[in-house]
Order: sequence, then structure tokens, then C-alpha cells
Amino acid sequence: MMLREFRGDLHVHTCLSPCGSNEMLPTAIVKEAKKRNLDLIGICDHNSVENVEAVKKAGEKEAMAVIGGVEISSQEEVHILGLFDNAKALQGIKCLIDQNLRGKNDEKAFGEQLIVDETDRITGSNTRLLIGATKLSVEEIVDAIHDLEGLAIASHIDRESFGILGQLGLIPSGLRLDGLELSAPAVVARERFYREYDLPFVTSSDAHYLNDIGRSCTSFFMKKVSIEEIRKALQGKDGRRAMIE
Ligand SMILES: [Zn+2]
Ligand SMILES: [Zn+2]
Repeated sequence: MMLREFRGDLHVHTCLSPCGSNEMLPTAIVKEAKKRNLDLIGICDHNSVENVEAVKKAGEKEAMAVIGGVEISSQEEVHILGLFDNAKALQGIKCLIDQNLRGKNDEKAFGEQLIVDETDRITGSNTRLLIGATKLSVEEIVDAIHDLEGLAIASHIDRESFGILGQLGLIPSGLRLDGLELSAPAVVARERFYREYDLPFVTSSDAHYLNDIGRSCTSFFMKKVSIEEIRKALQGKDGRRAMIE
């Protein structure tokens, strides 16, 4: 079986995230990803999924694979990435988040939350307090992601704020994470994480601006882009592998 390399940046925000730049529009994101020689991007906005379809469609026109996801804030203010194969699973996680997220956004304080189509046209906005924390615990989030057959990756564990280590001080034993994400390109500092945690690692950009896309990425050696293939690559199964940069 032929495996090929997919250079992936699995953690990219859009203009839907209050802290995401309004330049993070579907065609602009895809264009920038191509420029950075990426083959695969994951769209993970804070507590919302409404721009995934638009980026997927923009990606199809340019042969850029797009995985739909979301970056969920737990009640402990830990960020967890959920990545999914299909629209049904994304709707499932959206429902759960909506039931567990209180408050309205204040655009002046936190930024706009724009919903767009694949041609970058603004079609609406999300009025919820997407910057807020849900009432869901880290365990509940990881379980919900797995119930929907998604991948659960702890975001930017190398950062103090909103990373699982910064917020909890440890990775709870029994938490069934599929991977840990490192964000900073500081190679030396990464070594201690590899020694300490026996879980697959990915590196991604957590891009909020076009310039950040692909700043950190992971090469996935697999047959095609799917959650199952990425899972195998993370676990080193059937010859697949993931190589962080
Ligand atoms: Zn985050
Ligand atoms: Zn993020």
C-alpha cells in the first residue's frame, strides 16, 4: 500500500473565533496553507464549528484537505481539540457545547465572531460568548469527542494559559487523550515533554492570523486524509506515522 506524506497544521482558527483575525477567511486560509506547502489543515475555532464547511469547500477547489474540528474550553479552562470526519459529528459536538456555554459575546471587548461562506462572504455572526469556558469537565469533553468517533488532543500543553499542564498541573491518569499538542517551535524545551509523557505528540500553529499558518506543523505518513488514518499515524500502526517538525 502506498503511503504518502501529508504536511498538516491541525489547529487553525478562522474569523469565527473572537480572537481570530477577520483576515482568517476560507479562501485566504487555503491560499496561505498552499503557500506554506501544507497538504492538510484542521479548522478549530473556540467552542464553535460554523465555518468548517466553508473552509472545506474552499479547500476542495484548491486540493487542500480540511479536517473539521473545534477547540473546546473546559470548566477548568483547559483547551481540548476535537477533530472529526463528518458534519454529523460536528453538529453533535456543537449541540453539546451550546447546551453548556453561557453568555453573550461583547464584540467590543472580545472581537467579532463572523460566519462566512466559501467565497469569504459574511453570512452572519455567532452571538454566544465563544471566548468563555463551558460547564464540561476535561473528562466529559474527551468522552464526548470519542463518542462521536473523533480525535481528542490537548491543545498547546507547552503554554501556561489554557494548556492542560498550566491549568491542572498534570494530565489526569485515565484521561483517554489521543495526543498532546506542542505549539512553540522551541525544540530544546520540547525534550522534557517527550520524556515525561507517553502519548503521541503533534505540533501545530494555533494560527489566529494568516502569517501564523504552518509556523508549526506535523507530517503524517498515511494512505489518505481521514480521522482513522490520522489515529493510526499517531499510534504508529500499520506503517503509518506522524513526525513532528
Ligand atoms: Zn487554545
Ligand atoms: Zn487555538
